[in-house]
Amino acid sequence: MKKFINKPEDVERQVVDGYVKAYPDLIAKAADDIVVRVRRKQGKVALVSGGGMGHEPAHLGYVGAGMLDAAVGGAIYTSPAEDRVKAAVDAVALGNTGVLLVVKNYTGDVVNFKMAAEEAAEEGFAVDYVVVDDDVAVEDSSFTVGRRGVAGTIFVHKCAGAAAEAGAPLPEVKRVAEKVIANVRTMGVAIEPCTVPAAGKPGFTLADDEMEMGVGIHGEPGVRRAAMEPVDAMVDEMLEKILGDLDFAGARVAVMVNGAGGTPPYELAIVSNRVHDVLSERGIAVARTYMGPFMTSLEMRGFSVTLLRLDDELEKLLAAPARAVAWTEGEAVASAGAVSGASAEAPAAAVEKGAPDAGAKPADAAASTVDDPAAARVTAALLAVAEAMDAHKDELTELDMPIGDSDHGINMARGFDAVREQLPGLAGADAPTIMRKAAMTVISKVGGSSGPLYGTLMRKMGVAVKRAGGLTLASFAQGLRDGLQGIEDLAGGAPGDKTMIDAMVPAIASLDEALAAGTPATAALAAAAQAAAEGAEATIPLVARKGRASYLGERSRGHKDPGAASFAYCMAAIAACARS
Ligand code: ADP
Ligand code: MG
Repeated sequence: MKKFINKPEDVERQVVDGYVKAYPDLIAKAADDIVVRVRRKQGKVALVSGGGMGHEPAHLGYVGAGMLDAAVGGAIYTSPAEDRVKAAVDAVALGNTGVLLVVKNYTGDVVNFKMAAEEAAEEGFAVDYVVVDDDVAVEDSSFTVGRRGVAGTIFVHKCAGAAAEAGAPLPEVKRVAEKVIANVRTMGVAIEPCTVPAAGKPGFTLADDEMEMGVGIHGEPGVRRAAMEPVDAMVDEMLEKILGDLDFAGARVAVMVNGAGGTPPYELAIVSNRVHDVLSERGIAVARTYMGPFMTSLEMRGFSVTLLRLDDELEKLLAAPARAVAWTEGEAVASAGAVSGASAEAPAAAVEKGAPDAGAKPADAAASTVDDPAAARVTAALLAVAEAMDAHKDELTELDMPIGDSDHGINMARGFDAVREQLPGLAGADAPTIMRKAAMTVISKVGGSSGPLYGTLMRKMGVAVKRAGGLTLASFAQGLRDGLQGIEDLAGGAPGDKTMIDAMVPAIASLDEALAAGTPATAALAAAAQAAAEGAEATIPLVARKGRASYLGERSRGHKDPGAASFAYCMAAIAACARS
């Protein structure tokens, strides 16, 4: 891996700092991972977007007058955790009339942004969200999580941002965002992959003469892998798919020719040339063309084409003044009613307040002398899981390569490393408390879709143990069952969808049998771990219906689900721990 970086773990922070230092007149940091508008206009609807980083200038480059008020960035290609999204909402909610979250359609983003929106709403803020799903390469099916959100998202930032800047109320800004979503379509292609710095290896590989048609912005596989063609033929195929998906006949459109990070301007121009010729042949009028890197995928050699079908309203909103790092339109937006740069930093304190969990209070620590076997068992089990995640980090990440975005092992190891660091501070706390605190750390440090899902599982397990009045095989099994229900409620998956659920269900069934038969706990846990491993194995022939792998449809067959595999390793670690 050759990259212009320092340490992989410093990438995200240094990217944010680099942008903020370069454009102090436009953006400021509210926290390490949250960028806000400097001259923030108040008394309007605030627009917040974000997602995993690695798509720069998305989304921090669209923070500015007439576009976003804040952007929150997760680790490269990994959704920001719920508490970070909530922190971004907190950074802009006060003084404004509402907050609209613009979310790209990935399970991790949708779950984390939705949870943050619900939490903010419970606190009395007017918050709503929209989900962008413009990628026509993915079949639109009610059996999957639906289409991915890609470069068309920036048109949502622009049009909804203009409506918000003009003072439209929240339902109106949401209507505009949804109108853009209904009228925008994108498709991408790649000829060289990209490498997540922390993974060190490309997310996919292509032979010298191969292309991935329909590739996603995290390097997710597309609709087909085929021999290279002249770019005009690629553009024709992409436009065929886009124009076949929505009726563009006689329409005026805005075009985005987006570079994926490693595609030089002259190649994008050749793409633009063909796009314009085809649209002109089809009688489709181009109102505006935007050409450049807008939504990148690290250094991927690829591009996407986006068409936005315009009406008078959208065309006006698109042309309305805006001034952000990566988008300038018309005259600079008047800063009347704006707050000063200094106060844009003010929310930082509020944001940080809710951030990391400080761990146990000294009073709790004093209680550490109390001998609590359940707390000791939970602590040992969490340490064993952390060790297992470290040991299987590369393998889990590799499982996430062909059917995901090559980060599952990295996500899990990062989250459980943080749990391990947190445990000494929890000495003296009881088992349910340790589980609840560890669950919060997992939600906030794992990120992606597995963070909120594993965090929910652990939270529910803590509640079950508390309710049962102690840690027993029965309360452990009940916790798993409640956790499974929580995961299904949160992300809508079911058995057979090729997710972690498929490893959980047989493990729970095995524990139920053991409980009925009165099997000793150590043997019962060993059998449950074995059942989980078999369940994970059994995901191989399945077609994914949830998570990133569902974008592949039939092509997801033949690969083990990474989340099912990690769950099986967790169970094995817990079983081994119970034996010792
Ligand atoms: P991301 O998909 O955001 O990159 P990870 O790679 O860390 O997150 O986790 C992927 C795993 O999450 C999948 O292998 C799958 O087991 C699990 N997962 C994804 N979506 C769902 C869902 N809707 N229900 C249950 N598990 C899911
Ligand atoms: Mg992943």
